[in-house]
This record gives sequence, C-alpha cells and structure tokens, in this order.
Amino acid sequence: MPATHTPEGLTPELLDQVEAAIVALTPSLSEVQADIHAHPELAWQEHRTHDTTAGYMEKAGWKVARHAYGLQTAWVAEKVIGDGKGRVVGFNSELDALPHGHACGHNLIAIAGMAAAIGTAQVMEANGVSGRVILLGTPAEEAYGGKDFMLKRGAYDEMDVCLMTHPGITGNGSWLPSMCCNAAFTIEYKGASAHAGAMPSAGVNALDAAVSGYTNVALLRQQIPDTHRIYNVLKGSEGWTANIITSNAKVMCGIRAPTAREVYKMIDRALNCYKAAALATGCTYTITKDALYLDTQHSTELDGYLETVTKRWDDEGYTYRKFVTYGTTDFGNVTYKCPSLHPMFQLPDLPEGDFCRESRPSWW
Ligand SMILES: [Zn+2]
Repeated sequence: MPATHTPEGLTPELLDQVEAAIVALTPSLSEVQADIHAHPELAWQEHRTHDTTAGYMEKAGWKVARHAYGLQTAWVAEKVIGDGKGRVVGFNSELDALPHGHACGHNLIAIAGMAAAIGTAQVMEANGVSGRVILLGTPAEEAYGGKDFMLKRGAYDEMDVCLMTHPGITGNGSWLPSMCCNAAFTIEYKGASAHAGAMPSAGVNALDAAVSGYTNVALLRQQIPDTHRIYNVLKGSEGWTANIITSNAKVMCGIRAPTAREVYKMIDRALNCYKAAALATGCTYTITKDALYLDTQHSTELDGYLETVTKRWDDEGYTYRKFVTYGTTDFGNVTYKCPSLHPMFQLPDLPEGDFCRESRPSWW
C-alpha cells in the first residue's frame, strides 16, 4: 500500500471518543435503518424516509430545514459548535431506493451519515473545537443526480470538507475506489407514420432510425478503449404496431469511463452514430441530457483516512488504497466542488468460503 499520512492531532483517544459516540447511537439508528429498509421509496418519492431521518436529527437537537433547496424530499441539518467560527464539516445521508428495494444499501448510507455527523459534533464539542457540522438528506441518487440539484442550489457552498460512505458486498474492511464518470442522455427521433402495407413510401420510419443508431453504437463499441462502456436501449410508445410505420422512437444511452474528459470525448462519437441514423432515415432528432455523474476526485489531504482505518479496525489487511470501479455516484459532482472522500465499507454477503461454493455449477 502506498504511504499515507495520519492527520495531525487524530490521536487514538479522539478516535475512542468518536467510536464511543457512534456506538451509543447504534440501537436507535438500527431502528431507523430497519424502517427505511422496510419502506423503500424511489427517487424524488422519499417522503416517509425524509420524515423519518429529518425527525431523528430534530430529536437529536439539530437545527433541521425540511424540504430544503426547493426539493420536497431533501433536508439539511446543522449543528453549531462553540462560536461556530471554525471549519465546516459536511456529511451526506442518502434516502432513495431502487425499484425492488434497498439493494444499494442507501438505508445504511443514511444512518452512516447521521452517525458520523452526530459523532463528529459531539467530539468537537467535548474538545472545545469551534465550527459547524452540516448533514444533508440527499434524495434521488439512483436516478436523477439529486446531489447535483442541491450542489447547484448552494447546499455544499459552505463546506470545507464533505464526506459520505457507501456499503459494498465484496468482503471486509473499507475501500477507497474511484467511481467512474457516467453521462446519460436520450435521443428522440421523429418521422411520419403511414400504413406499412398500403403506402409505406409515405412514411418516415423513426424506429428504423433508432435501430440504426443502436447498431452504429454497437459497431463503435469495437473501437473504444477497454476502460470505456457504452450501452443503449430503445423506447417506443404503446401505439407501436407492425402495420404502421412508427413516427416516434427513442434511444436512451449511457456512457461510462474513468474520467469526465474521456466521457465527453465518447459523447461526441456516440452522437455521430445517432445523427448518422437520422440522416439515413430522414428523421429529425432531439437530444435530452438526463444526468451527468462525474468521477470521484478523492482529496489527497484526506488520505490519512485509510491509514487510520487500517491501523485501528483492519487487522486482516482488507483495506485497499485506490482502484476504479464502474459504479457511479452523484457525489462525484460534489468532489469537484470541495475536498471530499467517498470510501466504501464492505459487508460479507455470505459466510467466508461460501461464495466460491455457491457460484460453482452443480455439475462441476
Ligand atoms: Zn448507491
């Protein structure tokens, strides 16, 4: 593992205090996460989760603004310590679920943010450190990039540092992966409908444009770097039927690469594929930007995290410094704004050894 530095003043005694503060919260936060897990809510629909988590912070004595930044399911909680004139430490609690539940573990991110924020504030208070701790309840990570909405509306402006953590299921320890950049956009083709049997020559086929764009991208995929991903899916109206030339079709496209710069280049190449399809079929097209999740830029000033975690909690050397994953997060956009860290805490998904046994075909 490359050398990292332990932040000055981060003594074992301070870590004891942080740990004790968080352990004391475990019973109540376990209840919160169980409630969130039992009531999964999709992006922008996290009304119950919003109330549960914001309510917890209010009971903990924090100043909470519900429905913050013009977003129904976002909130901000703040604690001023001393005269408040010191560093501003920010944390994030994610709230939304995937269509089949909390498969991404945002229920755990929610309570991890709450535990870290409350623990930090308590330890600052106990040690006479002035400053502020801000915890954001951040909706819509899975679909729309909720943090980017909050970022553009100033939610991160005052933070000197911003942290969040995400669970993973690949073993033990805490990792610091670089999440990649992800751009998502939709091409909509418009043509002209006509009866496919009686007068096909009067039609302009939007589905053909979408199929052609899809195929062009499939051909392009052979010539892109190994580290890049491009994928797309066709969408049509319920009115599609075989004997009518389709006048409307969409292609939803996603592009991933380790850095934003690489993604931007790929967007131009992909758009050429889709534009060529419009030209070939005579359709018009429009482009809608759906989401842009930037890659995570971990702060080198916060490198002491890994050494601290490894020394204190990771006897078995599970903590790895850095690698690129193809996961993405809207927290990437935050990392371009202020010094940030987005480590993952790993949870064993099966008892040790079972993974290999389970994955092996029964006939092997
Ligand atoms: Zn997630």
